Amino acid sequence: KGFWRLFKLYVSVDSDPGKDSLDVSDALLQEVAKVLEFPVASMLPPEAFTVLRKSFDARKSQKEPKFVYTVELDVEKLLNLEPRTWDFISRLEPKIGVVEHTPHERVVGDLVSVIHDNKKSSQDRIQGDNGHGSLPSCSKFPVTKRSRIAVVGSGPAGLFASLVLAEFGVDVTLIERGQPVEKRGRDIGALVVRKILQSESNFCFGEGGAGTWSDGKLVTRIGRNSGSVLSVMKTLVRFGAPESILIDGKPHLGTDRLIPLLRNFRQHLQDLGVNIRFGTRVDDLIVENGQVVGVNVSDSSGRLQFCSEKLGFDAVVLAVGHSARDVYQMLLSHNMELIPKDFAVGLRVEHPQELINTIQYSKLANEVRNGRGKIPVADYKVVDYVQGDDNNVPVTSQRSCYSFCMCPGGQVVVTSINPSELCINGMSFSRRASKWANAALAVTVSPKDFIALNFHGPLAGVEFQREFEQRAATMGGGNFVVPVQTVKDFMNNRLSGKILIHFTFLTTRCSSIPSSSYRLGVKAANLHELFPNHITEALQHSISAFDQELPGFISNDALLHGVETRTSSPVQIPRNANTFESKSLGGLYPVGEGAGYAGGIVSAAVDGMYAGFALAKRLGLYDDDV
Ligand code: FAD
Repeated sequence: KGFWRLFKLYVSVDSDPGKDSLDVSDALLQEVAKVLEFPVASMLPPEAFTVLRKSFDARKSQKEPKFVYTVELDVEKLLNLEPRTWDFISRLEPKIGVVEHTPHERVVGDLVSVIHDNKKSSQDRIQGDNGHGSLPSCSKFPVTKRSRIAVVGSGPAGLFASLVLAEFGVDVTLIERGQPVEKRGRDIGALVVRKILQSESNFCFGEGGAGTWSDGKLVTRIGRNSGSVLSVMKTLVRFGAPESILIDGKPHLGTDRLIPLLRNFRQHLQDLGVNIRFGTRVDDLIVENGQVVGVNVSDSSGRLQFCSEKLGFDAVVLAVGHSARDVYQMLLSHNMELIPKDFAVGLRVEHPQELINTIQYSKLANEVRNGRGKIPVADYKVVDYVQGDDNNVPVTSQRSCYSFCMCPGGQVVVTSINPSELCINGMSFSRRASKWANAALAVTVSPKDFIALNFHGPLAGVEFQREFEQRAATMGGGNFVVPVQTVKDFMNNRLSGKILIHFTFLTTRCSSIPSSSYRLGVKAANLHELFPNHITEALQHSISAFDQELPGFISNDALLHGVETRTSSPVQIPRNANTFESKSLGGLYPVGEGAGYAGGIVSAAVDGMYAGFALAKRLGLYDDDV
């Protein structure tokens, strides 16, 4: 009896049923048989095997791109084999690439079931302890009545914090300055088609947070197989995500799948009694004796239903993301400690998707067929380290330049919340069928860079971001027109689309501007003059390195768009590592990306989930370590 995990089972594209199939195919059984040294693959019962992970490996070190699987074997299920093969099973012992393990993926459930089970066992234990069946009271919060908690922000962090708390029976009010996805979709449509920006309902603000009109990539650097990540993924499946996200090596949803998922999430929260207030902005915290006791809110729907309102709460979870710069300012007015942190700035590069498919897959590129083919639309991930004098690059310390938030088959979108500041990002739909591939190319910056531009204090990083967003808006000429430059011209410090006349009377033409997926207009600009020299030079140095790794990356068809500044939070709000409570103000729980504890959909959701458990524990509703 037992479970065995088999790694690195390679199946060729010809033999595999394709990227959308999670079946244990004959070709996969052949590979399993090889690893197990089992003589007749066709005798292996497919039901004994479960696919745990499936990725597409197109690394250049492979002779040809292949699907690569991790598979779990339930040894007991092999007992249905003929008695002759029992002998084989009894001789099974760990081989290279095979490990015995406990299948914890099966044990970790979605959050709703996990909390349900946990509440039950906690209550059993508590009943056993005091014989009354009532929950113990907590030192700080009154639990004589149902505790009232405000969660500010309905991004992944706020949604998961609300879910955990509501499942534990807490009286939760979820406050969101933006609109529900239906109305938000119309506001985003008006922005993209008619250039009308709603300052409170846009690509950053509204139900689901910044990641709703996104690529919906669910990759994370916080441990793909950890129980917390699996639990978040299973919760997403519960609300409508396809099961394949549990297995796919690079899971993604796409905007079209995120929207119905968020509606289901909302319905579940409302069924639990969560009071969701859209179009309501938190303007201030109400603080008494160093303790947050409520919030001041005002109408942000534009319908002026109410001017301002004071709402009392026992605690406030602050999950506002990192575009809510007004919130940082408000926190400073309460003398809260905010720490400037490193982040990255750069430009978004866009190539024809066909070019990226060819670079990555060579002849197999034909199999992509606009996302309908057997193999996934190609992506890339590149990184370069730029050393000071070692590489003759005039930067004083090591920086990294890396591709970030790559959106295959996607489009470049405007994520400004104010027309005088221009910043962009990328999104896609689930099929990733557009003809462009875009990714940020971002260079790390630190407080030293902020000081060099004369930005000081806790919000120096925010001012640094704003500086380049304003420069980009000016370069584009306003009205959300994005400044662009071909990669070749950026490398040669010259404007795209211009005819140059040399003193020899020969004329040369800089690259003409290729088409862009960006819908609000582009304008040729000297993007090499946007950032300080050391950042431009780091980008140029790294783009050369990326072209070595991905030959063709520097092409006439590759277009840089300015500016990408909101890669992660420029600020961290210090909090207690175990309780998640702010170090400056009691009763305040800063979570997610805006607080500096996450950098993506999944990590923000995990942070919100942990904060929910920490608060539930503090309220005496949960008596186990998370
Ligand atoms: P947010 O998602 O930013 O949510 C904060 C919420 O708080 C917002 O809804 C906001 O309206 C609300 N709020 C702010 N201030 C107030 C206030 N005063 N009162 C009331 N409500 C307030 N990450 C990935 O992992 N994969 C991707 O593919 C991906 N693509 C992206 C594409 C785009 C276009 C963008 C903008 C981001 C993308 N990201 C992606 C990043 C990801 O969206 C964020 O990391 C994640 O959403 C952070 O979650 P959060 O809950 O901490 O904050």
